[in-house]
Amino acid sequence: MSAVNGQVSKMDRAGHLRSNQATLDELWAKAKIVHCSDGRLAVSLNATELRFLKATDVAELIKSGEFNAGEKYFLGLDQLDSQPYFAWSSDHPKSQSDDAPAGYATLRDIGGDLDELQMELALHSVALSNWHKTHPHCARCGAQTSVAMGGAIRTCDTDKSEHYPRTDSAVIVLVRDANDRILLGRQAIWPEGRFSCFAGFLEPGETFEQCVQREVFEESGIAVREINYLGSQPWPFPASIMISFEAITDFPEAARPDGEEIVQIKWLSRTELNSQVADGSLSMPPAMSVSRKMIDRWLHA
Ligand SMILES: [Zn+2]
Repeated sequence: MSAVNGQVSKMDRAGHLRSNQATLDELWAKAKIVHCSDGRLAVSLNATELRFLKATDVAELIKSGEFNAGEKYFLGLDQLDSQPYFAWSSDHPKSQSDDAPAGYATLRDIGGDLDELQMELALHSVALSNWHKTHPHCARCGAQTSVAMGGAIRTCDTDKSEHYPRTDSAVIVLVRDANDRILLGRQAIWPEGRFSCFAGFLEPGETFEQCVQREVFEESGIAVREINYLGSQPWPFPASIMISFEAITDFPEAARPDGEEIVQIKWLSRTELNSQVADGSLSMPPAMSVSRKMIDRWLHA
């Protein structure tokens, strides 16, 4: 079976270019720019692709007062043609509403439609924008921080300390039994009928494998063995990476929901899963989620 998300990068992050501001300015002038605004991305009219801005568009939007100056982050060069890409994180100062303005959508909404290059650009842009927006102050002295190294880090304006973007590790597990059924759970906060794989955050001092065993046991009450790595997917909501595994249990009959986070669990054969999806009694996780890819991989094995 193939990996869940093992594709090679379409981008060259070109870290060696980040330290020279004159070079970054030249690249910005000819860049395709991903606009992150109020938690959304600029998208095409039919909201299936990113809508790239040019440096002149950005200058005009700032001059008109429609958007604030924001921050620029260098994303790298297209591996194929060396086209430079940047993210521009800038909010709409006049926006009073939670409704998406025309031409903007969340990554969750459009993630299932983007091709590999655009998905990579969107994930990188949203992850950087989320981190920069929530780290305006130095964790050591509390002074203001500023963007440095083309957006790869922030530095403290007072003590010059460097601050690196944080990514929170979370494991996600597809549990199987000896009969090749899978165990899915439903969280209390999800809509009726929505089921997915088990997942949880890595704790300090824990290996991924220990985290898999702990999370599955906490949420479903069963022990697992044969923990195999499947792949990983950035999940910048707001700052995670999902590390995906499959695991086997010898005690399928012992499975029971923890009653807090997980309120319902189901063992499913391929036939059962397909028929429950067809009759509407079970809904799958969204197309861009790693859980959906893990379930699909098993379904088509
Ligand atoms: Zn400081």
